[in-house]
Amino acid sequence: GSLGSAAQQQPQQPHAVCLPYPAQGHITPMLNVAKLLHARGFHVTFVNTEYNQARLVRTRGAAAVAGLPGFRFATIPDGLPPSEDDDVTQDIPSLCKSTTETCLGPFRRLLADLSDPPVTCVVSDVVMGFSIDATKELGLPYVQLWTASTISFLGYRHYHLLKSRGLAPLKSVEQLTNGFLDTAVEDVPGLRNMRFRDFPSFIRSTDPDEYMVGYVLQETGRTAGASAVILNTFDELEGEAVAAMRSLGLARKVYTLGPLPLLAREDPPTPRSAISLSLWKEEEECLRWLDGRDPGSVVYVNFGSITVMTSEQLVEFAWGLANSGRPFLWIIRRDLVRGDTAVLPPEFLSETAGRGLMATWCPQQAVLDHPAVAAFLTHSGWNSTLEAMCGGVPVISWPFFADQQTNCRYQCNEWGVGMEIDSNVRRDAVASLIAELMEGEQGKEMRRRALEWRDKAIEVAKPGGTSHRNFDDLVRNVLLPKN
Ligand code: UDP
Repeated sequence: GSLGSAAQQQPQQPHAVCLPYPAQGHITPMLNVAKLLHARGFHVTFVNTEYNQARLVRTRGAAAVAGLPGFRFATIPDGLPPSEDDDVTQDIPSLCKSTTETCLGPFRRLLADLSDPPVTCVVSDVVMGFSIDATKELGLPYVQLWTASTISFLGYRHYHLLKSRGLAPLKSVEQLTNGFLDTAVEDVPGLRNMRFRDFPSFIRSTDPDEYMVGYVLQETGRTAGASAVILNTFDELEGEAVAAMRSLGLARKVYTLGPLPLLAREDPPTPRSAISLSLWKEEEECLRWLDGRDPGSVVYVNFGSITVMTSEQLVEFAWGLANSGRPFLWIIRRDLVRGDTAVLPPEFLSETAGRGLMATWCPQQAVLDHPAVAAFLTHSGWNSTLEAMCGGVPVISWPFFADQQTNCRYQCNEWGVGMEIDSNVRRDAVASLIAELMEGEQGKEMRRRALEWRDKAIEVAKPGGTSHRNFDDLVRNVLLPKN
């Protein structure tokens, strides 16, 4: 019939299925990739877990996941039992285990059900590597997105090197405190000036059977089987590590598309730009409050979506901020204090009234881009690290886990944009690092470097820039069906 012949004349619309790991720091960069593909004419199916989808609907309304023409949301279960409290960060090791063990079946059924138009490629998070089987069965291009730093990817892959040198796994808990972690680790392909403590947290475990070690080794070991790997970084920032990924044969093809927030930014905005998958509701008042502060005056404090601390540490940060004498914006998630609700000392609240603003979640990139913000007290999650660079803001780093120690090392030692705060945080250290960053010579130099990085990041994401060109290559050479 006429419909049939029309279909024959029209080339099939490509259909990309995007599968992020279900945590905020993974969902956001995958959403950016999905938006870029949609802007190129791909039909997109973005896969959330049922838990996150329900949470998005609850905090942002049904419109949050209504999608757009050619941009659809689908769900699979995450395999965890239903939880009592459904607005908290899910336990990461449990979520890793359950997605690995239970998601392949539901994902395979989803791929089979999506037929309008038929799926032509899959973009999966590296740590959702089970999806390779379901995709290969269909003979489709399979691209993986690594959402953390490339230096940390190498850090994981060099586990066997650390083992052969007698460093990992730790032999006793004493090694955590007796200076052992400061051991210099030389001749590590793709990495510079590393100490054992700068490797990702999981591989510094004292438990030789630590689940997360086996998990990250299994997941990062599968990238070589993917058609290509996308990295949220750019060549000037991590070129050496990217080159090592290639030369060590860790991926067939590598595409650096970072910083993704800049590559995916639309000017002027389109309806697509409005899609946000923030699992908490952003308090827009933060931006209005910043409007009322002097340029370059505010310390912004945010430890991301997963970090937890003790109430003692919370109190040390509080008094450090109070004693710094500076205006501050402090984001305190409801579940920031481990096993407890965050309670701030009443004296702290009265002393900083009018100078400090506390909120539960904010639009972070907009905050970091705001002219009032001068410094970022961060846990150095990779998205936060890049977003700080995009905003040209230097950091004080309090790394928590995963790749954050590695990112912190490079922020402080290689990229010239950061100062580290001891994990055993003390109020005096907080106040004096803020003073150094805001008015010291070192701080001035870090601000200069941060602005330099911002310029480079803007450059690579522009038409003609490396990340921009790499995206074209990825679409043309890997993602578009060949016919
Ligand atoms: N984020 C945000 N508002 C907040 C806190 C965090 O939008 O109040 C975003 C932040 O911009 C980043 C992500 O959440 O994109 C956190 O990812 P990151 O890799 O920095 O850390 P993680 O949460 O994975 O530890």
